[in-house]
Amino acid sequence: MKAEREIVIIGAGAAGVGLGVTFTELGITDFVILEKGAVGNSFTHWPQETRFITPSFTSNGFGMSDLNAIAVDTAPSYTLGKERLSGIDYAEYLQLVSDEYQLPIEGHCTVKSIKKDQKKYLIETTKGTILANYLIFAVGEFSFPNKTNIEGADRFGLHYGEVDSWRKIEGRHQTIIGGNESAIDAALELAKLGKEVSVYTKSSGLDAKEADPSIRLSPHTRQKFVDLHVNQQVPGSIKLYTSMEIRKISRSAVGYQLITDTGASIAIDNLPILCTGFDNGAKVLASSLFACKENGEVRLNQFDESTIAENVFLTGPSVRNQSVIFCYVYKFRQRFAVIANEIAQRQGYALDQKKLDYYKQQSFYLDDCSDCEVTCAC
Ligand SMILES: Cc1cc2nc3c(=O)[nH]c(=O)nc-3n(C[C@H](O)[C@H](O)[C@H](O)COP(=O)(O)OP(=O)(O)OC[C@H]3O[C@@H](n4cnc5c(N)ncnc54)[C@H](O)[C@@H]3O)c2cc1C
Repeated sequence: MKAEREIVIIGAGAAGVGLGVTFTELGITDFVILEKGAVGNSFTHWPQETRFITPSFTSNGFGMSDLNAIAVDTAPSYTLGKERLSGIDYAEYLQLVSDEYQLPIEGHCTVKSIKKDQKKYLIETTKGTILANYLIFAVGEFSFPNKTNIEGADRFGLHYGEVDSWRKIEGRHQTIIGGNESAIDAALELAKLGKEVSVYTKSSGLDAKEADPSIRLSPHTRQKFVDLHVNQQVPGSIKLYTSMEIRKISRSAVGYQLITDTGASIAIDNLPILCTGFDNGAKVLASSLFACKENGEVRLNQFDESTIAENVFLTGPSVRNQSVIFCYVYKFRQRFAVIANEIAQRQGYALDQKKLDYYKQQSFYLDDCSDCEVTCAC
């Protein structure tokens, strides 16, 4: 592996591959993508039954690329001939795109630590050390399951991201902690298998008034919930307990014990399933390179660059700009060209302007987030 690069991207998931394609298309070539597994590593680790909640449709050419495309002239719906993609499907799409654009990806190369070396960054990996002028975190969230907000969860909880298949979960009575996308998805999958599922949550996206699917439960999950649970088309059952915050999990003589915020104790038979979300991987991997807001989100400038480490950028679902949440592919892909454009300007590269205009036309370039509020008139 070459010991020095202008730009290092960490992670070859949706964001790393998408940004790599954007660099290549716009004329930036001196970069490498470091990936701890294979391309699309997170997606290959999704539970086998999980499907995309955003639909895939070949709407390219009308200023509306496939919602799950990470590159402007691609469409997983066309490539795979499918609509609701599994994690394995999507990893295949990412690999095909990486091959098509001949992206410089160094697989099975884990980034262990990062040090600032004057104006550059020294990246220590399992395959040696690389020096870079620009560092872009595309490590996502899936490798960083959040187990710290409940005492005992690290020992007595199985996180959604650790489930290989719901068919492998043993025991009739199952307990889920959390109330959003992954919790409802897990509850439905388990109820389909005839389990009796209890869901404990402080609040649920089911009740949210907001129109933004980053806050409200997606229409796909809501529809599944109504079809399968409300209309009782599953052999099992789901009981949803809202306004219930679980603070602690402990082992008991016959199973496990959940302690709520009011001090109530709930006895359960099997290891609870944690649908408590994921952390921002960049913050976990390199906390000293980012300043944080009170709510834990990292502070970024208008180019998604760290406010305390020059030339360090974040791309992917943890990006927050003004109040906009970029947690879906169709959202965060619109920031790839913003990063590319900014780096090109700093380095004095001439970008392919025609291509950049095309990106804007196809809604792949969003540099002003002030109009992104999701409102629906009815
Ligand atoms: C169950 C589930 C369903 C979802 N459904 C949808 C959906 O329908 N639509 C949608 O738009 N989004 C969906 N999302 C969100 C979407 O998957 C993420 O936003 C997307 O994967 C983020 O892309 P990323 O490249 O930032 O992260 P990832 O795809 O997680 O890629 C990060 C990469 O970084 C690598 N990495 C991590 N640490 C290191 C390290 N130290 N060194 C080297 N490499 C490292 C990982 O191996 C991984 O390949 C879903 C997420 C989940 C968990």
